[in-house]
Amino acid sequence: MPSSPAAAVTNKTPYRFIDLVDAPAFARMLESFFQATGIPNGVVDAEGNLLSMSGGENACAVFHRTQPQAAERCRESNLAIMHDLRAGHVAGGLCKNGLMDYATPVVIEDRQLATLFLGQILHSPPDMAFFRAQAKQLGFDEHAYLESIAAIPVINKERAESLMTVMVEMAHMLAASGLSRLRQMALEHDLNEHAERRIQLEDLLESSPVAIGWSDGDKHIEYINRQFTLLFGYTLNDLPDMETWYRRAYPDPDYRESVIAPWRKAVALAKQTHTQAPELEANVTCKDGLLRRIVIRPSWVGKRRLVSFTDITDRWLSEQRQQAHDIMLEMVARGSPLIEILAAIVRQIESEDKSARCSILLLDKDGKHLLTAVAPSLPKFYNEAIHGIEIGMGVGSCGTAAYLGQRVIVEDIRTHDYWKPYVELAAKAGLQACWSEPILSSRGKVLGTFAIYHATAKSPLPKDIERINFAANVAAVAIENRHTRDELEQRAYSDYLTGLANRRYFLEQAETELARALRYNGKLSILMLDVDHFKLFNDTHGHKVGDLVLQKLADVCRATLRNIDIVGRIGGEEFAVLLPETEPQQAEEAAERLRAALAAAQVPLSGGLPLHFTASFGVTTLDSKDANIDMLLNQADEALYRAKSEGRNRVCTYHPH
Ligand code: GH3
Ligand code: MG
Ligand code: MG
Repeated sequence: MPSSPAAAVTNKTPYRFIDLVDAPAFARMLESFFQATGIPNGVVDAEGNLLSMSGGENACAVFHRTQPQAAERCRESNLAIMHDLRAGHVAGGLCKNGLMDYATPVVIEDRQLATLFLGQILHSPPDMAFFRAQAKQLGFDEHAYLESIAAIPVINKERAESLMTVMVEMAHMLAASGLSRLRQMALEHDLNEHAERRIQLEDLLESSPVAIGWSDGDKHIEYINRQFTLLFGYTLNDLPDMETWYRRAYPDPDYRESVIAPWRKAVALAKQTHTQAPELEANVTCKDGLLRRIVIRPSWVGKRRLVSFTDITDRWLSEQRQQAHDIMLEMVARGSPLIEILAAIVRQIESEDKSARCSILLLDKDGKHLLTAVAPSLPKFYNEAIHGIEIGMGVGSCGTAAYLGQRVIVEDIRTHDYWKPYVELAAKAGLQACWSEPILSSRGKVLGTFAIYHATAKSPLPKDIERINFAANVAAVAIENRHTRDELEQRAYSDYLTGLANRRYFLEQAETELARALRYNGKLSILMLDVDHFKLFNDTHGHKVGDLVLQKLADVCRATLRNIDIVGRIGGEEFAVLLPETEPQQAEEAAERLRAALAAAQVPLSGGLPLHFTASFGVTTLDSKDANIDMLLNQADEALYRAKSEGRNRVCTYHPH
C-alpha cells in the first residue's frame, strides 16, 4: 500500500482530483470568487463527493430543494446538464424552477476528475410575476421567496460563460501542475529507488568473489567488477568493446577461431532460442601476459549479457600436472628411453611457467661431472659449455647443488658468488636467475640436477619450489628405474662376463631371424667358434686370465662383426654368431676375418708378456624350408668339430652328406 501520493501517482496508477490540487486552497479560491462576483459555485469529484461549495442561493437551499415538486425539477435539470458535460464545453441552461445553472468538467488526460458548478444566476432581472405565481403554485411564503429571487445575481450569458471558462481553466491549470508535480515526485522517488537499487547491486558485485562483467550484447562492455580487474588486470578503459576483449584475452588467432568463435555463435543462438547459454572453459591471457584457466558462464538479461568468470587455474594446473605425472610414470614403466622421459618433464614445467627455461643435468659415472641431458630452451653454446663441468662449491647453481646435495637458489646470477666464473656465459645466454634442485635417489645419492632459469632476476614463489621438487622427484624415479631396469635386462638377456647375448637370448633371436629369413626367402648364416686349448690358459694362468681371454674375444667380435650380426655365448668358451642376409661365401669370409683378428689379439698380462689365443670356426648357411635352429647349430658344430680335428685355428664349412 503506497504511503504517499508520489508513490501512488505513476503513469499506470489512477489519481484523484484531491491528489493533484491543494483542496483547501482551491476552496478558498472559489470562496474569493464568490465574494467578488456573488456567483455561488461548487466542485464535485468523480466519485460524487462535494469538495467545496461557496455561496448558495436561498432560493434553492430554502425553497426549491425543500419542496418535492421543485426538488424533482432541480434533479431533472441537473441530469440534463450532466448529460451535456464534455471537455472544453460549458454546459448550462435554465432550470425548470427558472434559474440559470452552469457546469463544466475538469478533464485531465482524458479522465474527468471533477465537475465545477456555477449557479444559480439570472441572465436578466427576474420576472417577478413568474416567481409570484410559482410561490403560489408551490406554497412558498411569497414575500420571503421573492426576496430570495431578488438576491440572485444577474449576469449576462457571455460574462457567465467567460467566468465559467476562467474558473475551469484555473482548475485545469492547478490540476495539471499538481499532476506534473506529482509525476516529478514519483519520478524522483523512482529514481531514488532505482539509484538505491543500482548502488546496492554494484556494491554486491564489487564485493563479489567472482569476476563479473556485462555488455551490451556482443558490442560494448558496460561494467566489470573489482574482482574482474584483480583476476585479469584489465580495467574498463582497457576494454572498450567485446572485440578488444576477445583480441586481448585470446591473442592466438587459431585459438580464437577454433575455440572462441564457435562458442560465441552458440551464445548468440541461445539468446534467440531463449535457452541457457553454454559455458566455456578457456585459457584467458591476462594483462600481464600470464595465462589463466577460466570457466566462463554467460547469461542473457534482456539485451544485456551478464558473464561470470571463475578462476580454476590452480585446480587445472594440478590436474594437468597429475596427468603429466601419470604419463611420465607410464613412460618409466614402459621402459621409454630416459632422455624422452626427462624431455617430457622439462616440457611440462615449461608449459606451466611460460617464462621458465629448464635443464636436467646428470652426474656421470665417476660422480664428479655433470652432463647435459635435456635443456631444449637454453642456447646450444651454453649447454656445451656446461657439459662435463666438475661439481663443487661455487660452480654455478647446478654444480653447487650436485656437490652439496641441496637446493641452490640464485636470484641474481650477476651478483652471486656461485656464478662468478660463469657471469659472462650466463649474460650471453640471457640468463639472470637459476634455481637448482639436486635429483636424489631413494637412498639420497645425487643423480643429477633439475634447474629452472629465468631471463630476469627472480626469487621463487612457493609454487615454483613445488614445481622444482615435482620435476626432480619424477626425474629421480625415471633415472633410478632405468638403472634397475638395465640391470634386469642385462641379467635377462646378456652374459655377465662378456656382455654378449646369453644362450637363451641368442636362441630367441635366432628363432626370430630364421622365421624372417624363411618368410621373405632371405639368407641366414651361422658361425660357431670355440677357443683352442682353452683349458690350458686356465691351467697355466688361472681362471681369471681365462676370463680375460673370453672378454677379449667378445671385444674383438663386437669390433669385427656388423651391427646387425648377433653374437652369443652359448657355452663356457663356445660362441655362436647369427649373420642375417649373408650368403655362404660371405659367411666364410666373415669367419676368416674374425679368426685372423682373434689370432692377432693380445691379452695383456701383469708382469709378463701379453697372451695370444686362437679359435676354430664352423660355418653353415640356411638352405632348406624345413630348417630349424637346432639343425643349423648342429651343422655348424659338425663343421667346427672338423676344424678342430683338422688342426684348429681355422674355418670349416658344413657340407651336406
Ligand atoms: P679345444 O681346443 O679342444 O676346444 O680344447 P679346450 O681346452 O678348449 O677344450 P675343453 O672343452 O676341454 O675345455 C673348455 C674349458 O673351458 C673347460 C672349462 O673349465 C673352461 N671354461 C668354461 N667356462 C669358463 C669360464 O667362464 N671361464 C674360464 N676361465 N674357463 C671356463
Ligand atoms: Mg675349446
Ligand atoms: Mg669347448
